[in-house]
Amino acid sequence: MNSCVSSAAARRSVLQRLLPIAIALTTAAAIEMCAATNAPPWFARALVGMEVGPTGAQFAGGKHAPDYAANFNGRDIVRRAAAANAEYLVLWVRDGEFTFHDSKLVPKPPGQRDRDVLREAVEEGRKLGLPIIAYCQLQYPTYELRKHPEWKVRQANGEPINHLACFNTPYTNVVKALLAEMLSYGIAGFHLDMVDQGFGPPIGCWCDHCQSLFQSEYGRPLPKDINWEDEDWDRMLQFRYATSDRFEKMLTDHVRSLDPRATVDFNYHGNPPFSWEVGQKPLLHANNGDFVTGEAGLWAFGALTASFNAAWYRSATPGKPFQVAVQRGVRMYHDQTTRPLQDMRWEMFTLLAHGAFVTMIDKTAYDGWLDPVAYARIGELLGEVRAKRAQFGHQPVREVGIYFSARTRDWIGRDKPATYYQSVQGAHKACVYEHLGFGFVFDEALTLDALQQYPIVCLPNAAIVSEREAEIFRRYVESGGKLIITGQSGQFDRMGKPLAASTLEGLIGATVKGRMAGSDNWMRFGATSDARPGLTTGLRADWSFLVRGPATIYHPTTATPVGELLDSHRASLANPEGYNPDWPLSARQVVGPAVLINSVGQGTVLTFAGSPDFATASEHHIVEARKLFANAVRLLHPNPRVRITAPANVEAVVTDDPATRTLRVHLIAYNATPQTTPAKDRPYVLPGLIEDAPMFRATLDFPGGLKSAKALNRTTQLKKRGQRVELVVEDLHEVIQCRY
Ligand SMILES: [Zn+2]
Repeated sequence: MNSCVSSAAARRSVLQRLLPIAIALTTAAAIEMCAATNAPPWFARALVGMEVGPTGAQFAGGKHAPDYAANFNGRDIVRRAAAANAEYLVLWVRDGEFTFHDSKLVPKPPGQRDRDVLREAVEEGRKLGLPIIAYCQLQYPTYELRKHPEWKVRQANGEPINHLACFNTPYTNVVKALLAEMLSYGIAGFHLDMVDQGFGPPIGCWCDHCQSLFQSEYGRPLPKDINWEDEDWDRMLQFRYATSDRFEKMLTDHVRSLDPRATVDFNYHGNPPFSWEVGQKPLLHANNGDFVTGEAGLWAFGALTASFNAAWYRSATPGKPFQVAVQRGVRMYHDQTTRPLQDMRWEMFTLLAHGAFVTMIDKTAYDGWLDPVAYARIGELLGEVRAKRAQFGHQPVREVGIYFSARTRDWIGRDKPATYYQSVQGAHKACVYEHLGFGFVFDEALTLDALQQYPIVCLPNAAIVSEREAEIFRRYVESGGKLIITGQSGQFDRMGKPLAASTLEGLIGATVKGRMAGSDNWMRFGATSDARPGLTTGLRADWSFLVRGPATIYHPTTATPVGELLDSHRASLANPEGYNPDWPLSARQVVGPAVLINSVGQGTVLTFAGSPDFATASEHHIVEARKLFANAVRLLHPNPRVRITAPANVEAVVTDDPATRTLRVHLIAYNATPQTTPAKDRPYVLPGLIEDAPMFRATLDFPGGLKSAKALNRTTQLKKRGQRVELVVEDLHEVIQCRY
């Protein structure tokens, strides 16, 4: 059974590894340790590692009790991480106030006395063959900012933003000196966290350094303040992006000049829910350093973020490994709780199936104590991952490329990017619930080749589409590509102002008669007038259903109209805004077609006059809006490599290994427990933890034929009937290996 192991066997082998540390030391690790300098870097084959840091590092404003991190011990951490099956260790070294190495620049916490945690860790790591990566905090250097208040980010009115350092000041020299100190210990690399310019108001930076740098680059002063009508504000956004980009490249070059084998990665914030205020773009900042690192964490971003972020990072850095950090705490990093094993398994296998390598973060107790239950569960989890190594790292099989327009993020999203993100996140959610393979395509570096990675590209309310982008979309469709366009795509200029005509009119095959003012829009598909039955599969005829989100009244020119778009009774109110905007009103009358289907060259453009994507992510998501989206995908791409039927809470990730002609279908079930009323912010309820592995049915159909299929888990019931595989799975992660 090659590398296939039952989960029970995996657990036994993990327990063995948890016994004496000597057992955890494999010959392979020892060989790796002595590898020649031309060996691949530590992350090339890494699947799982750990990050360990003292809890409270960011808190207490430097006024810690004497026992803070007193027992934070590099040798013990390395031993425990290795015993827990970590393949590398990211060790917390520098925070805002202190560092955990002998530094001439930054002090140690008093409780550490003469200890040097980094030295302890590097020496023990060398013995155990565990690469040590130094965590270095960049953005909140409270120690340096106390001595150099002139390095603080400044608002337009000149007021400092007290917790942020400006990356255009000599602060960068201190960072470089600090990195040089740590490099001298013989570490494998750095994890640098973070390069944000703030996560919301107040916005900077109007400091003297930025004023003169902007003047010299643009030959004009900085704009006086945030102004979305001002071309200079566009220059300011580019200036802020360039500032972070320059800083990241400067640090990467600096580290490589001192030690060409040392790696650099930055905690990245170019993805939703972050936006322009952070100072990062999706592609530009993802591609600095050796690989991109991001965070998941359903407590902050929702359960769908694991798959969203992994697919985003992969699409933003094609062909490169990418790292996602998760935490063992129930709510967040510092809460000193430990999630149930199943909860961590769900997140871990979602990320791995999408191609990530994953870092499990442990925040130690306040004094540095290591929680034995946490390490036992992490050890079991990482052991299972390593036993399943052969199942990961193959090419994703994707149907839908979700288009992301950074220009729309900035100039339509402005200070409320979440409204635009709902469309993008809804397209992703629909793909996950409907088991459609997906990835992302970015406006930042749009090429025909990027589009042609996908049989279908979806423009989820991409409001700003330049003539150049529209031309590349045209070439994609003419050569056989399929487009799905939603909402009010293509109807705004580069500054976010409405255009007289959509840049996508030729592709859509219709002109824009008007835009719906509200978001409570409805669709209806008649029993007889519907020219495309596949589009309405599962939808009741002559029934109006809410498709909440931005909508357009189109007048067809060359496109075939299907179904009807209806407004709501809000439109008949004397004061439409006076009626609660959070609650959609009932359907009223037909205002235009619901869907337009237009043939262009060898391809097809299917345009929704409304937004089934936005609706799917909204608080008024009805299943039918999502089914409509999925039906459109299936209409345009009727014969995918595999058609998957499974419960909506089971995510499917399909990968291809052409060398062995094997399609792998990862099935990962999200099985959260119900919750009670929250103590604050009712009705917003956090999801419950996953305690149990569920049992579920799934069916896989292979239109192109299938030779054989086998399950990884012994408990899975698998029946192959011709080109169909019927499954009953009794775990929250299963991999069906299908030979074609
Ligand atoms: Zn500045």
